[in-house]
Amino acid sequence: MNKKKQNKKIIGKTFVFIIVFILIVITRIENTNNRKNIEDNKHGSAERLEGTTIIYSIFASDNNYTWNFKKKEDLDTRNSIRNNLRIATNYLSTEAKKYNKEAKFIYDFTKDENLMKEEEFKCDLENQTDHDNTIWKFIEKKIDVNNLIDSYKADNIIFFVLINTDEKCKAITCTRDWYNEMPYPYEMVYLYNLDYGFINPPSVYAHEMLHTFGAFDYYEENSDLNVTKKTVNYLKKHMPNDIMLTCSDTDGKYRYDVITNEIGEMTAYYIGLQSKPNVVKELNLIPSQHK
Ligand SMILES: [Zn+2]
Repeated sequence: MNKKKQNKKIIGKTFVFIIVFILIVITRIENTNNRKNIEDNKHGSAERLEGTTIIYSIFASDNNYTWNFKKKEDLDTRNSIRNNLRIATNYLSTEAKKYNKEAKFIYDFTKDENLMKEEEFKCDLENQTDHDNTIWKFIEKKIDVNNLIDSYKADNIIFFVLINTDEKCKAITCTRDWYNEMPYPYEMVYLYNLDYGFINPPSVYAHEMLHTFGAFDYYEENSDLNVTKKTVNYLKKHMPNDIMLTCSDTDGKYRYDVITNEIGEMTAYYIGLQSKPNVVKELNLIPSQHK
């Protein structure tokens, strides 16, 4: 091969290399542009029920309560949590269909281990005043949220902080749902094994998830939301089986195999499934975050 030919070959190879490099860069830029970040959500990591929602499970231990999945008892509890998530998410998908909306959930940490983490926290998980910050920082540091959102093409993500409590625990299951100027976008459900001595059923899981989409409790007064005693009485009378009012069956007992409560039109409005029903105006309630 003479020098001219060799030079031509080198130039040709360099040219191909540059083209391939440019194509890779363009594809990466396109991917980044298409990628949805959770910061795009205006109202925290769970926006509205419609779309795809990831349920991320954090099995949280502290000084008082720990998880040990080498023990059968803890493994059984974890399996029942998974079962409750299955029933709760199936229920939410079925209820969404009544409003002609699709709601899909990714929750099964036995199928994808990237959907769960075990962690020992320094804070007292029973004391509900200070653990939001600890959990937020943990999520920010240890969980690649945007990568999960991206790989499942999800719209929302909810974090379940699961605490292996017993009857001695005084804390009650609750949700850190979105508020204005929240320092991190992550919405978290603190799920204790038992509340008031009863193991939490799937309806409680669904109720808490609905908070993250914008629903509020119907069973107690709340001056911030303009929920007066009169409003509560009205809701008890006219929406007695709405899941934001009660998580029990009509006989007052919990059911562990099915959810028998309903998502009425007012709850549907607050989680972005339908337009404003008249009752919201009649009760002078604040507008939904999904206007
Ligand atoms: Zn609630």
